[in-house]
Amino acid sequence: MRRGNLFVVSGPSGAGKGTLVARLVREVPDAWVSVSVTTRAPRVGEVDGVHYRFATDEEFDRLVEEDGLLEWATYGGNRYGTPRADVEEHIARGDQVILEIDVQGGFQVREKMPSAHLVFVEPPSLEVLEKRLRGRGTETEEAIATRMEAARVELSRKMEYDVRLVNDDLEEAVRALTGYVDEQAEETRG
Ligand code: 5GP
Repeated sequence: MRRGNLFVVSGPSGAGKGTLVARLVREVPDAWVSVSVTTRAPRVGEVDGVHYRFATDEEFDRLVEEDGLLEWATYGGNRYGTPRADVEEHIARGDQVILEIDVQGGFQVREKMPSAHLVFVEPPSLEVLEKRLRGRGTETEEAIATRMEAARVELSRKMEYDVRLVNDDLEEAVRALTGYVDEQAEETRG
């Protein structure tokens, strides 16, 4: 069995990474999305083990000590990390493994697994991004301000990613993302 590939999908919160990745999984049969661990509180509608594995600070500390995370970062005052074992298992199985993580995590993954493919999802503009964040209705004003600041920092590093795609027209962005994943996967598919 050939090994699969690892893809990092990053970009500002509100750029539409989640929607794009959900569509990717529907269209690429061997794509598998990692479920991250976070110390953030669940939002309304989020299910433990599906959207995230929600953890206490102590549980997160233990994972870090055990070297159970492939990468982790602090974002908006909460910690987020990728469980290592699941990712390794799915790569060994030949899957296209997708990590939807921030840029700090993306660069850690590149260090540890240089063959990883890094995809940056851009919003059409910062104005559109702010509108989308407000439109979600799940964030406080403070959280929106934190995310807009983080967005500026993330956007300043987009050129270090392997590819960038602007999420303006959703269907076009889905085509660009699935096309890229399929193209990279082609070489390793049996
Ligand atoms: P949110 O709180 O909106 O779900 O996520 C905030 C940010 O954390 C997003 O940019 C998201 O991609 C990122 N994130 C989610 N899971 C992980 C992870 O496991 N590691 C890292 N480094 N970032 C993550």
